[in-house]
Amino acid sequence: MNPDFAASIQSRLSELIAFRHDLHAHPEMSFEEKRTSSKVLERLRQISGLTIRDGLAGGTGICATINADKKGPCVLLRADMDALPIEELSDLPYKSECPGMMHACGHDGHTTALLGAAYALTDHADSLTGPVKLCFQPAEEQGCGGQRMIDDGVLEDPHVEAAFALHGWPDLEVGHILSVPGPILAATSPFEIEFTGCGTHAAYPHKGTDLLVAVAQLVTNAQAIRTRLIDPINPIVVSFTQINGGFTHNVLPETCHVKGTIRALDAKAHATAKQQLQHFVQSTAATFSIQADLRFIEDYPVLINDPDCAALVAEVAVDTFGAEMVTTKSNPSMGGEDFAFFAQHVPSAMFRLGLRPKGALEYPNLHNPHFNFNDDAIATGAIMHSNIAHRFQQKRLA
Ligand SMILES: [Zn+2]
Ligand SMILES: [Zn+2]
Repeated sequence: MNPDFAASIQSRLSELIAFRHDLHAHPEMSFEEKRTSSKVLERLRQISGLTIRDGLAGGTGICATINADKKGPCVLLRADMDALPIEELSDLPYKSECPGMMHACGHDGHTTALLGAAYALTDHADSLTGPVKLCFQPAEEQGCGGQRMIDDGVLEDPHVEAAFALHGWPDLEVGHILSVPGPILAATSPFEIEFTGCGTHAAYPHKGTDLLVAVAQLVTNAQAIRTRLIDPINPIVVSFTQINGGFTHNVLPETCHVKGTIRALDAKAHATAKQQLQHFVQSTAATFSIQADLRFIEDYPVLINDPDCAALVAEVAVDTFGAEMVTTKSNPSMGGEDFAFFAQHVPSAMFRLGLRPKGALEYPNLHNPHFNFNDDAIATGAIMHSNIAHRFQQKRLA
């Protein structure tokens, strides 16, 4: 018989909701999740039966293990804790108290759902046939915090056989779960280009260089990477997102700084697109006799859900909430996720957790200044985490 994880979570639901509101009011940027991490740690330390490693991934990462010494299949559940550099525009009573920062990706909800699972799983630790690692990671939005957790050994000792994570999803009604196999989120490569030339009077462009015309051509020409140079079957995004150059109307500047991102759902197409951008940058520089230095800041791989793990999530969701609440087909998205690093090492699946309130036609999207994780999704997320860990271990022993 399945342990009653839901009862454990329901009995602490108001406490969990208050916990999320507190996190929401105090967002912290990637690798700066000190308060968040200490709040999580404080709760975890009150729970008996956890073996806790803290100070991971540069200081704020935590891995708490249930049944650390039990022989049996080890499963990892992951939440992310960081916020975004966005000014919150909501009028929530627990609106961000930190200017220019907010939980616009719902990581406050992810952290809270995993804390809920910590209570439920430890309440029923005897029903688990192996260890369960609860991984609270920093720096999902930028900085490859997931990879840093892996570097610090969260997948070993004991060795993790599978990893699972959730992401709140505004397009999906609350109570619904979406779990699909294969590539679900894109590989991402943010980039910066520093253009340098010879500044001159705007009336005499031939006496120097014109970086702005060069950049304008690059922005336009680079779209051919997507439309002409990569097989159209492979989705690619090349977006230029920031151009800083010049300061007045009659001067052609010496420097121009450009930012953007390349995204793809296929690793080979992604690598090709990066090479082609380098080619476009260098040929533009040669054409205009300027210098250009292209730098890729960090690479997140494609997030590929293991088919068996995604099927297990769907099966758990159907058994827990009913088939009408579960979707197993969906197009991938060009967003990125550093849970992809876990999926590169062990069979993994990230599922989507509905956030849109019942009956609402729309809900603010992720990274929107009005976004807020829906409290009604906390219990669903925590119950899913708990049942997934339990079911995975049962299946491995069957
Ligand atoms: Zn995000
Ligand atoms: Zn996110």
